[in-house]
Amino acid sequence: MAFEGLAERLQGTLNKIRGKGKVSEADVKEMMREVRLALLEADVNFKVVKQFIANVKERAVGQEVLKSLTPGQQVIKVVNDELTKLMGGQQSKIAVASKPPTVVMMVGLQGAGKTTTTGKLANHLRKKHNRQPLMVAADIYRPAAIKQLETLGKQLSMPVFSMGDQVSPVEIAKNAMVEAKQNHHDYVLIDTAGRLHVDEELMNELEEIKALTNPDEILLVVDAMTGQDAVNVAESFNERLGITGVVLTKLDGDTRGGAALSVKAVTDTPIKFAGMGEKVDALEPFHPERMASRILG
Ligand code: GDP
Repeated sequence: MAFEGLAERLQGTLNKIRGKGKVSEADVKEMMREVRLALLEADVNFKVVKQFIANVKERAVGQEVLKSLTPGQQVIKVVNDELTKLMGGQQSKIAVASKPPTVVMMVGLQGAGKTTTTGKLANHLRKKHNRQPLMVAADIYRPAAIKQLETLGKQLSMPVFSMGDQVSPVEIAKNAMVEAKQNHHDYVLIDTAGRLHVDEELMNELEEIKALTNPDEILLVVDAMTGQDAVNVAESFNERLGITGVVLTKLDGDTRGGAALSVKAVTDTPIKFAGMGEKVDALEPFHPERMASRILG
């Protein structure tokens, strides 16, 4: 599971202060030094760490905390609050358009898990929200992406709209919208192409699909195993497309996970879902509060 290293380090640090009847500024300082190291070691972006530490410090050395009856616990509460905030605060749900269909564009680098997540999300929407999504195979560049989505569709007994790989993704999206309206689908999930790196041509194409389909949700799919590059990638996608949320995939893996957490902070968009495995039911709504509590023990 992701964040295990971070959890262990933070819990170790916080345990030292937990039961203290008296906490001095020096104690807080020492604790913050260790929290800072734990976050950096977990690969949280350094700018994000800096801000996090500043926020905690400002609140933790306040008089109410140091003079309270249980200062150790108060300090831990501050860390917990700030960690929850870092991960997005309140849980953020998937958009629902006032006039269906709700259009969701899945974007991200190749291999991040877009196609898999498209299937998982379709399954989630049907199972938990009683919706009838149409999946759209608009990744014509990655060999096998279309087939992969079609296979997922068959497995789930859910429709996939595809036009092969000889038609432009923009054209596919356009036709898919017509089909969705005709067949009264309430969600359209567009699986777009990814590349190994952010490139101009891809961004232009995604912008075109966006202009045409007017999506209610642009979900950036981020592989939690990728390091700091995830932060740059997220910034690029956000600048060009204005993403509305993040899906962290592969959180079931043995990853430090900190870079992925930083994505929320740098794009200021919520993490909406977490991918917890390869299977179609391995998608969970992301709960910042629960995740923070789990990390802090
Ligand atoms: P795409 O290129 O972005 O469409 O990526 P894919 O959907 O093809 O996913 C790439 C690989 O990651 C596949 O082998 C998936 O099975 C795997 N994958 C996707 N999401 C998860 C996840 O949450 N956990 C694990 N363990 N593997 C995942």
